[in-house]
Amino acid sequence: AVVADHLIKRFGELEVLKGVSLSVAEGTVTSIIGASGSGKSTLLRCMNLLERPDRGELAIADEAIRFTRNPQGDIVGLDRRQLQRLRAKVAMVFQQFNLWPHLSVLGNVIEAPMRVKGISRKQATALGEHYLERVGMADKRDAYPAFLSGGQQQRVAIARALAMEPRLLLFDEPTSALDPERVNEVLGVIRGLADEGRTMLLVTHEMHFAREVSDQLVYLDQGRIAAEGTPQDVFDDPRCRHFVAPAA
Ligand code: ATP
Ligand code: MG
Repeated sequence: AVVADHLIKRFGELEVLKGVSLSVAEGTVTSIIGASGSGKSTLLRCMNLLERPDRGELAIADEAIRFTRNPQGDIVGLDRRQLQRLRAKVAMVFQQFNLWPHLSVLGNVIEAPMRVKGISRKQATALGEHYLERVGMADKRDAYPAFLSGGQQQRVAIARALAMEPRLLLFDEPTSALDPERVNEVLGVIRGLADEGRTMLLVTHEMHFAREVSDQLVYLDQGRIAAEGTPQDVFDDPRCRHFVAPAA
C-alpha cells in the first residue's frame, strides 16, 4: 500500500498541508478533488518528494520515510539513498506534459530508466517501445514533442512514467491543458491503467471520470481532508456536495 501519515507542508508562514493522512491500497485508484489552492498539487509533489514535507511519514510499498525538523527548522534524518529508492518507486504525469523538447518520443521515454535505474540503452529501448505501444504512440517514436498534439504528448508522458515501472503513478490534472476533443484519448489510457490494477493517485476536475474510475475519493479543503470514501459517499457528503454538484 501507499500511506501518507499526518503530512504537514509549509511554504514560509503558509501551512498548505495541515496533517494529511491518506492510504491507497495496492491496485486501486484514489482521486483527489478540491478547490484551487486547497493543496492538491502540493500533496502529490510531497508523495513524489518533489517537495519535502515538514513533518509526517510516507510509505510506498516496503519503503518508509519519516520527516522531522530540528529546533532550528532544518529537515533532519533523511537518508539520501533512501530518498532515491523512494523516488524510483513513484512516477508523475503533469498537467503540462513536461516532455524534453530536445529528445525524440523514444528518447523521452528511455532517459529516466537509463539514468535513474542504470539499465542499458538496449533494454530501455525495448521497455520504451513496449509502453509506447501501450499508449498507442509506437508509430511516433522518432518524432519530436513539438510536432505532436497535446493529447499525443500526454500519452508519451504516460509511457515515460510507465517505463519507470513505478509502484505508484501520480497524475496532476492530466487533461486540464488539452483541447476538449483530446481529453478522451488520455482519459481512455488512464482508464485502461486502472483496469490493469495500477496503483494510482489522480488529481482531476473531471468529476464524472473521477466518480467512474476511482475506488476512493478524497476531498481536500484548505489543506485538510474534509471528506473521503467511495465516490458515492463523497458525492453525497454534505461537506462537499456544494463542490461536486454546485446548486444551479
Ligand atoms: P489548483 O487546483 O489551482 O492546481 P492546488 O489545489 O493544486 O490548486 P497547490 O498548488 O497545492 O493547490 O497550492 C496550495 C497553496 O500553496 C496555494 O496557496 C499556493 O499558492 C501555495 N504554494 C504552492 N506551491 C508553492 C511554493 N512553491 N511556494 C509558495 N507557495 C506555494
Ligand atoms: Mg494543482
